[in-house]
Amino acid sequence: MRIRILGSGAAEGFPALFCECETCRRARAIGGRNLRTRTSVQVDESVLIDLPPDILSQVQREGFSLASVEHILITHSHRDHFAPAELHLRREPFAHWENQPPLHLYGTDHTCEVFRETFGEPPIEQGVLFHTIHPFVSFAAGDMFVLPIPASHSSYLNPVNYILFRRGRTLLAAFDTGWYSEQTWSALNEWQFDVLVAECTTGHKSDPMNEHLSVHSVKRMHSELKRRGCLKDTSRFVTVHFSHDGGLLHEDLERVFCGTGIEVGYDGMVVEVPD
Ligand SMILES: [Zn+2]
Ligand SMILES: [Zn+2]
Ligand SMILES: [Zn+2]
Repeated sequence: MRIRILGSGAAEGFPALFCECETCRRARAIGGRNLRTRTSVQVDESVLIDLPPDILSQVQREGFSLASVEHILITHSHRDHFAPAELHLRREPFAHWENQPPLHLYGTDHTCEVFRETFGEPPIEQGVLFHTIHPFVSFAAGDMFVLPIPASHSSYLNPVNYILFRRGRTLLAAFDTGWYSEQTWSALNEWQFDVLVAECTTGHKSDPMNEHLSVHSVKRMHSELKRRGCLKDTSRFVTVHFSHDGGLLHEDLERVFCGTGIEVGYDGMVVEVPD
C-alpha cells in the first residue's frame, strides 16, 4: 500500500489565503514544508480520500492525472474536503480520453445532497456514480474493503473517517474528527493499522467544541490506539490538516512530536508499506 499526502493543510490553507498573521508570514518566508494545500490522500494509484479545491495544483505538482483514479471516498461535505464542481472537468471538451471507466464516489447522505445540488436532479454525472454509504456499514471499492466509522465533527453533516483494507494492509484516515465516541473506539478494537493519517488541526490550542484534534489529543489518540492493540511497532502514524491558528510551523511540529512515534505530514509525503 502506497499512501501519498496530496495536501496537509486545514480549511484555509497554510499559510492561509487572506491571512497576515505572524505564523502565515513566517510560513510564506520559509516556504518548503510550511506550504500546505487542503488535506487529501491518495492510496495506491486508484483511490483518493477527499477531493479538495486544491486538487488541480496537487495533481500537477505530483505529475499525474485523475484519469487513474477510480474511487474517491469523501469524509464530509465541508468545502475543504469536497469540491464537487471539479468533476465537471471529467467530460468533453475539458478532458479527452478513451474507454473512460466510471468514477465511483462515496459519501454519506449529506455529501450526496451536495453532489446532487452541483450536478442537478436527475444528476448529470459525467460518468460519476455516487454511492451513499453509512457509518459502520462496510463496502467494497474495487478490491478494497472499506469500513466508514463516525467522526466526532460537525454532526449535522454525518461525517465519517475511513478504514481501508487492501492486500493485507490497513489504513485509518482520520480527518476531520475530534475525540471519538465510545462506540467508534469499540469498532477500532478489532483492527491493527499499518498506517494512520490523523488530523492535528489546532496545534497547542484545545478545541472546546471537540470538532478537531490538537497536539495533545493526537498524542492521547496515539496512546489510546496502542493501549487497545491497534498499532504495532512498525505502524506509521502521520499527522495532517494543520491550521495556521495552531501557530506551529513544520519545524515546531517536528520538535513537538520528536520521540513520540508520531510523524509530521507534509504535501508530497509518501508512506509506503510493502503488500
Ligand atoms: Zn477540514
Ligand atoms: Zn495566519
Ligand atoms: Zn470539516
